[in-house]
Amino acid sequence: MLKKSFVGIIKPRLEYESLTGRVADPIQIPPPSTATLLVEGPVEKRDASLLSEGDAVAAGQTLRHSEQSDAYAVATVSGTVGTITPYTGDFGRIYTAVTVLSSDEKPEPTDPVVSTPPSLDTALSSLTCLPGAPPLKMFADETRPIHTIVIYGGDNDILVTTNQYVVKSRTSSLERGITALKQITGVDRVVVAVPGEAMQTYGHLGAEVKKVDIAYPSAFPQMIMHSVLGQTLPAGKACEDLGICFVTAEAVASIGDAYKTGQYPVRKLITVINKAEKQQLVSAVIGTPISDIFRQLGITLQDGDRIIVGGPMTGSAVYMEDYPVMPDTSALVVQDKNAIPFVSDYPCVNCGECVRICPTFVPINMLVRFLEAGFYEEAADQYDLYSCIGCGLCSFVCPSKIPILQFIRLARYELERMKSAEATHESS
Ligand code: SF4
Ligand code: SF4
Repeated sequence: MLKKSFVGIIKPRLEYESLTGRVADPIQIPPPSTATLLVEGPVEKRDASLLSEGDAVAAGQTLRHSEQSDAYAVATVSGTVGTITPYTGDFGRIYTAVTVLSSDEKPEPTDPVVSTPPSLDTALSSLTCLPGAPPLKMFADETRPIHTIVIYGGDNDILVTTNQYVVKSRTSSLERGITALKQITGVDRVVVAVPGEAMQTYGHLGAEVKKVDIAYPSAFPQMIMHSVLGQTLPAGKACEDLGICFVTAEAVASIGDAYKTGQYPVRKLITVINKAEKQQLVSAVIGTPISDIFRQLGITLQDGDRIIVGGPMTGSAVYMEDYPVMPDTSALVVQDKNAIPFVSDYPCVNCGECVRICPTFVPINMLVRFLEAGFYEEAADQYDLYSCIGCGLCSFVCPSKIPILQFIRLARYELERMKSAEATHESS
């Protein structure tokens, strides 16, 4: 049931970054000596005949660790498998971390790297780890058929310009990607949504072109659904429940490049925002430790500085300098320890700032009390937990500096976990 409509009154108004004029090319980060790749699922389920230390691998080769799972990573350098270890991601998500030690010798892949003609089966089994992480699995779900693909030509966090750069500088890759994506998915309606006034430039892409406002958080899928497609997403539903799939411009351009060259694109574009809030675009091989990027850019880290993967409003802090670049890493933010926004355990003072700024009018002052107490089901049933789009504006304005967005994410993750535990229990 829809509980609130999307009509936000944003104060203070934050705006997305706009790339204008000639855009500087990204800084090329040298390939790493060791690439770390994450495969979903626990290492204990590994089948040694599929993946073992010392195996020779070639760039573009899929790495699977279990016949019981369709999860895989794609090697982004050629070399040998170094270590295979457990890895715990955000909110306890379980992965297997595979390191590939780069070598100059390039063993030949046993299969063609990118099979043609484009088809959903081959794309699913090899292209989901492309830069930009195309959500191809959504097109295989027959219970939720997709009829519209939306490609947003910007980024959904402030200061980030990764996808805007792709749209401005890789338009032929994007155009080829749109053609291939239509072949892969059988979806004819493709909408390219672009920020601000740039829409007349993109009329030749083979898609409808629509304009999106530059006020944050207009670029979130739920907001674009409303402003561009005229649909309001019911609370608790995902865009794909309504037959709409969002794909990043970089993912589409990567698909275009993969089918054009037959090779697997391995470089991810990332906006790096340094301690002075200056942005630089870099191109790094997926699996590169982020410390390599900081070294190349001359960014030094001191004790207490904070690294955020993702944008300033929606990203998550990480505590390892060797955290690897992932297929969906669009931004890295480095904050000086003296400039880190203070987070506290002060209580809510009921000022209402969060409620006034929330674009979906979630009653956050009430919600936060239930989240702090761990009453997640009540938060979902009575206080609109699922109307949140994750923009982080509430945390941004909260005078008590309550990490509201983190509470919301944890609650959703816990509810999801409880639901799948119940489903497993019922089916056993
Ligand atoms: S993050 Fe906060 S402000 Fe943004 S939609 Fe969710 S509850 Fe509202
Ligand atoms: S902004 Fe913070 S202190 Fe004010 S009502 Fe919201 S949660 Fe409470």
